[in-house]
Amino acid sequence: MSLAMRDPDSLHRFLFERYPIRGHLVRLDASWRALLERRDYPPAIRDTLGEAVAASALLAATLKFDGTLSLQLQGQGPLYLLVAQCTNDLAVRGVARYREAVDSRDLSVLSGKGQLSVTVEGQDLPQRYQGVVPLAGPRLAECLQAYFDQSEQLPTRLWLHAEEAGAYGMLLQRLPVSAMEQGNGAPSPRTPPSPEEIDDAWRRVQLLGDTLKPEELATLSERTILRRLFPEDDVRLFEPAPVFFRCRCSRERVINMLRALGSDDLRALLAERGKVEVRCDFCNRAYEFDAVDVEHFLSPQATSGSERRH
Ligand SMILES: [Zn+2]
Repeated sequence: MSLAMRDPDSLHRFLFERYPIRGHLVRLDASWRALLERRDYPPAIRDTLGEAVAASALLAATLKFDGTLSLQLQGQGPLYLLVAQCTNDLAVRGVARYREAVDSRDLSVLSGKGQLSVTVEGQDLPQRYQGVVPLAGPRLAECLQAYFDQSEQLPTRLWLHAEEAGAYGMLLQRLPVSAMEQGNGAPSPRTPPSPEEIDDAWRRVQLLGDTLKPEELATLSERTILRRLFPEDDVRLFEPAPVFFRCRCSRERVINMLRALGSDDLRALLAERGKVEVRCDFCNRAYEFDAVDVEHFLSPQATSGSERRH
């Protein structure tokens, strides 16, 4: 059965042989549940975060970069901050902060007409790209579609679904014709498609994508999804890449953040509680510092990098 062929926590790339159209399918299982560990999100907020994490992986997969892609929603609404991130090697993390549980899945309602943005940051480079994603529809996939439609990027469509057990998504992207001419193998004996044929194919695959049901995205194997959606097309499915949960927090990063607080505040905190404890927003890991630790990293000799590692 097709179910046996499912690869958990994976990203599959696929390519339409006849047209300059490619796609990605992502599924997050254990990685999504690790991200949710020790969190108690209301379902609507949890699933909104899940869709954002799946989308961040799909968008990261379309880019050639070395760094982190972030989707961030910020506003005054009940869900006042949501961050979903994926690195170039498909490590995901994410967090949502909310004032109260809400039932809506409408991003404008959740965030109080907030702002949605996509950011790409290089690992050690100052260069940074940020784009504003219009809240053009209730759900993230619709907002991202509007974003791609109005920006100078490749035409791109996404379908997203998240639930407690997993987060899933599919992306289709129309490539420049030149991408096809470079080819991936032997030249095709068929005549290349005309621009009109490519336009038609792009319209058609989007309509077919719209017939994909959330439960199909969640339960069917990648091969079955592609066969079911595009039975008339020759679609090449590539070997999957693993997707996993990983946080980039470290004791050193926390120390740098604490230094910025200033020595007076830190010593006051120590006097009151005997130690300083910081929890990572993304992974909930606790970092503890006693008086000796604090004095050590506050001393002028302490330079970043020389801290003892946990
Ligand atoms: Zn962390």
